[in-house]
Amino acid sequence: MRVLILGSGIIGTTSAYYLAKQGHDVTVIDRQNSVALETSHANAGQLSYSFSSPWAAPGLPLSLIKWMFSKYPPLVVNPNLNSETVKFLYQMLKNCNSKSYEVNKSRMVRISNFSKKCLLELEKDEDIFYEQRKQGSLLLFKSAKQIENIKKDLSLLEKLNIQHELLDLNGCIQAEPGLHHVKSEFTSGLRFANDCTGNCYLFTNQLYKKCLEMGVKFEFNTQIEDIQIEKERISSIKTNRGEFDSDSYVVALGSYSSKILSKIGINIPLYPVKGYSITLPVLNNEDAPQSTIIDDTFKIGITRLGNNIRVAGTAHLTGYNLELREKSLSLLKHGLNRLFPYATGKCDDMKFWAGLRPNTPDGPPIIGSTPYSNLYLNTGHGTLGWTMSLGSGKLLADIISGIEPEISAEGIDMSRFNYSNKTLLNYG
Ligand SMILES: Cc1cc2nc3c(=O)[nH]c(=O)nc-3n(C[C@H](O)[C@H](O)[C@H](O)COP(=O)(O)OP(=O)(O)OC[C@H]3O[C@@H](n4cnc5c(N)ncnc54)[C@H](O)[C@@H]3O)c2cc1C
Repeated sequence: MRVLILGSGIIGTTSAYYLAKQGHDVTVIDRQNSVALETSHANAGQLSYSFSSPWAAPGLPLSLIKWMFSKYPPLVVNPNLNSETVKFLYQMLKNCNSKSYEVNKSRMVRISNFSKKCLLELEKDEDIFYEQRKQGSLLLFKSAKQIENIKKDLSLLEKLNIQHELLDLNGCIQAEPGLHHVKSEFTSGLRFANDCTGNCYLFTNQLYKKCLEMGVKFEFNTQIEDIQIEKERISSIKTNRGEFDSDSYVVALGSYSSKILSKIGINIPLYPVKGYSITLPVLNNEDAPQSTIIDDTFKIGITRLGNNIRVAGTAHLTGYNLELREKSLSLLKHGLNRLFPYATGKCDDMKFWAGLRPNTPDGPPIIGSTPYSNLYLNTGHGTLGWTMSLGSGKLLADIISGIEPEISAEGIDMSRFNYSNKTLLNYG
């Protein structure tokens, strides 16, 4: 079968890889001149299989109020609120209760666990280098309140069978020796030994090469403008380079998926949550992070990627806007200096970057079929698209190929948003 994938971020590329492995004739189109040049480009590098959690958690409403008065707020809302931002916040807040949190988290954990399994299989099948490290992750706490909050989550971690270990100060230093300089900045941590790290951009490029070897065609510099419909099916994709037709179509356009889908009556709730990262060379290995640390105080991730450190964070609700924000740069530098003050030199070689996380208000991505029989979605991976990418690609490939998936797709497709299929099909 011919399959046309829209988007060559990590999600479009993993989808292409698995579909090609299953024998399909795959083409990928993207407006950039190569793969992973938008949100998949410089993320925090965490493969957070054990720490897959929705933002919509019971403590969020109170935190939002607290952050309004904070010097370095992890979440910033543009004061010129538009209706999309209000709607997203409202839908997210509706999910901030224990029951929804548990349901949403278990769906994310299902896809993350599957992704880890897929990664181990992929590494057996392919020789692939992406600055990977398998040294776990460490969630670091400073205040007693933070530890109290996480304790509420521990029973859920037990229930979901997620391996974790509470560490005292010395335990944290044992896991990340570079922290020994800053003993007053944290008191304890939660370690997830099964988590990994790696460079998502490198990984996507390596998978791209494997795709080319399998005969996948990539059409770059191609701006997707519209989706054409005939008799309740997709007939072609209109681009600045003409029309592309296929038997089946996959939308993997990250934050832009909802823009294109709304043209054919599919209204999925996606919001482009902007985040920032800095990347700097390591100066002193022994003072640098060895794996990945999530600083619970400022909600930033600090990850070792080869000879570099990547620091990422901020959830900035400001629509489709990629401007680099000085205050977020200060937050990231402050976060790094607070925990690893001697790891890097001057910031002359620093790269500052921003990307738009394709967030759903409940947390899990949107993977699977649509009311159009030959159109599929693989999008909405929000904060954890790199982590969930392989499982998402494999799940989608199985659905398209009619193979029984290894995990249930329950609660992961668009039907959970209760939009009426009948209304949608009237667009056809
Ligand atoms: C600061 C930050 C830190 C993060 N840290 C992590 C982390 O540590 N771990 C983790 O798992 N996840 C992390 N994420 C999330 C992760 O990066 C995303 O979930 C993931 O990259 C989304 O991948 P995607 O393929 O869906 O989107 P993208 O990578 O954005 O790909 C979409 C593609 O569609 C193309 N496109 C869009 N519109 C059009 C159009 N009209 N025509 C043609 N092409 C188009 C784009 O060019 C792009 O290549 C982070 C994100 C940010 C911003």
